[in-house]
Amino acid sequence: MSIFSHSAYDKHEQVAFYQDAKSGLKALIAVHNTNLGPSLGGCRMWPYADDGEALNDVLRLSRGMTYKSAMAGLKLGGGKSVIIGDPRKEKTPELLRAMGEFINTLGGRYITAEDSGTSVADMSVIGETTEFVSGLFAGSEYGGDPSPSTAYGVFVGLQAAAEHRWGKTDLTGLKVSIQGVGNVGFRLAKLLKDAGAELFVTDIFQDNIDRAVTELGAIAVTADEIFDLDVDLFAPCAMGAILNDDTIGRLKVQAIAGAANNQLAEGRHAQMLRERGILYAPDYVINAGGIIDVYYQQKGDYDAAEVRAHIEDIGNTMKEVFQRADETGETTAHVADRVAEERFGHHSVVGEAEDKSGTVAA
Ligand code: NAD
Repeated sequence: MSIFSHSAYDKHEQVAFYQDAKSGLKALIAVHNTNLGPSLGGCRMWPYADDGEALNDVLRLSRGMTYKSAMAGLKLGGGKSVIIGDPRKEKTPELLRAMGEFINTLGGRYITAEDSGTSVADMSVIGETTEFVSGLFAGSEYGGDPSPSTAYGVFVGLQAAAEHRWGKTDLTGLKVSIQGVGNVGFRLAKLLKDAGAELFVTDIFQDNIDRAVTELGAIAVTADEIFDLDVDLFAPCAMGAILNDDTIGRLKVQAIAGAANNQLAEGRHAQMLRERGILYAPDYVINAGGIIDVYYQQKGDYDAAEVRAHIEDIGNTMKEVFQRADETGETTAHVADRVAEERFGHHSVVGEAEDKSGTVAA
């Protein structure tokens, strides 16, 4: 397995591997860039098929966090950790405490938080062995959970997209399709409903669909139909790589603004969207509400009004990205990458093989 020549390696500062025989912990931490501050990013627990898959994930995700935090105006760098294992079967307090010890070995260069497969409660256990943990501050507006803040940030960013596309922030009557009404998607749906939008939702769990239909009056569609709807805006809030060769041609929407990470399958798909006249809100810009919340939790003087104001700034950043894209003719994804790189001081090597723009994973 190669590291420095790995396809997902992008000038990462540090990649650490750890094994604790007693608890069975096998984990990796990647610190992508600390120019703006200590790296902060979630701890993902996943039953990776092999070490290579785990390495690939941690490299891509940590890089994404650098871009996300830079665009959110946070004094944070990008990092991420992964625990190799099934969170439903292999997660024990001993394993989480060993993870805390691993995090300690980096001396504060990496701060962890919850992610797929880990929870606010798990962060408390990790916090028994390390101080470099966030997303567990009970005094935060939502008890440590970043999802409501993510949803609010997406809502604000979506309003900015609506303003840019249709010249109005009033969402009354706007037809919005939402893929995935889980933690973030459902909360976003509620905000949109309150703002007068008409909702079309899908999910792979019927319970989640039923909740959106009964509580919000949303119209349910199948997981496949979501791409063919004659609606105004599509909000992907499920998984990554859903904007691809198969789906983009089917979309009838004029704008895409949603929470999912890594929505573009490849960088070139941003150009495809542009050519079809679809305004794309770069994912890591619009979904930064959670990291903003976690940043203030970590900082220690959590003030709900300050956090809310910072999240609302996502709308201004979004507008700036849209305007620059109009002025330069570049894709919004490319503009966002460039602005982020200017902020954290990452200079591309001329002639570097792969164009990774627009495919930042966080
Ligand atoms: P979640 O697991 O609570 O919700 C995702 C929902 O999508 C689930 O209800 C799931 O059943 C559904 N889903 C999965 N595959 C689907 C498919 N093929 N079609 C339709 N629905 C499908 O996760 P979440 O915390 O709400 O996060 C949603 C997305 O936003 C993820 O991509 C996540 O990485 C991203 N994100 C979340 C946060 C956060 O604070 N939670 C922050 C930034 C980005």
